[in-house]
Amino acid sequence: MQLLPIPAFTDNYIWVLHGTQRALVVDPGEAGGVMDWLKQHGLQLDTILITHHHADHTGGAASLRETTGARVVGPTGEPMPEPLQRVDEGDTVMVLGLPFQVIKVPGHTAGHIAYYCPDVDGKPLLFCGDTLFSGGCGRLFEGTPAQMLNSLDRLSALPDATQVCCTHEYTLANLKFAQAVEPHNTELAAYMAQCQALRTQNFPTLPSSILVEKQINPFLRSRQAAVRQAATVHNPLASNDDVSVFATLRAWKNVFK
Ligand SMILES: [Zn+2]
Repeated sequence: MQLLPIPAFTDNYIWVLHGTQRALVVDPGEAGGVMDWLKQHGLQLDTILITHHHADHTGGAASLRETTGARVVGPTGEPMPEPLQRVDEGDTVMVLGLPFQVIKVPGHTAGHIAYYCPDVDGKPLLFCGDTLFSGGCGRLFEGTPAQMLNSLDRLSALPDATQVCCTHEYTLANLKFAQAVEPHNTELAAYMAQCQALRTQNFPTLPSSILVEKQINPFLRSRQAAVRQAATVHNPLASNDDVSVFATLRAWKNVFK
């Protein structure tokens, strides 16, 4: 199987996984780039996986379905381009012969889901939409800090080798914030240099991995002493429990420049 991101809009990625004949795509905010790519590579679109209802993740789904006959799969409880197969926490959806487990990860939106396959050619694979980004996490449009922290805890518990396919190229901006939180994190500094080199050549910084995110992402590190301390310095009035620390980090990132 081959995995690659098709760039869309200013900083979206539409992930493609394909074998020799059939492909799946994730969160196609637009159809044109995907159709061109499928034609160039002589591939049939089998399935469209959708993580949440935002237009930059769903906008191309209806057109792709009509043109290719692909099946659309998306979360229960969110407005979606009907008709589609609705899936929820605990469901497993078979795509291209691979079992993708549905993990409900509310926070960015109320019904956001992620798709996890434990073994794609020997490696685990995660499509996490706008929940987990490299070095960051999605904004809390519909959920609470407690929900998002719980969602990220669940993703963080996946195997270290899991390839993390996020929907946006936000990595460098996220790492700038991460360095403000943890200026002495040497793994973070090394990762920043590596990502800067990739972006200089216009290469994606993704997929990341769960191991890397646990080392460098402040939103997966909110229980680390250095991160807690930075949050307390930023907002001395906030409580010191896990959810409050996480909420402080998320609010801090919202205004960070
Ligand atoms: Zn979104």
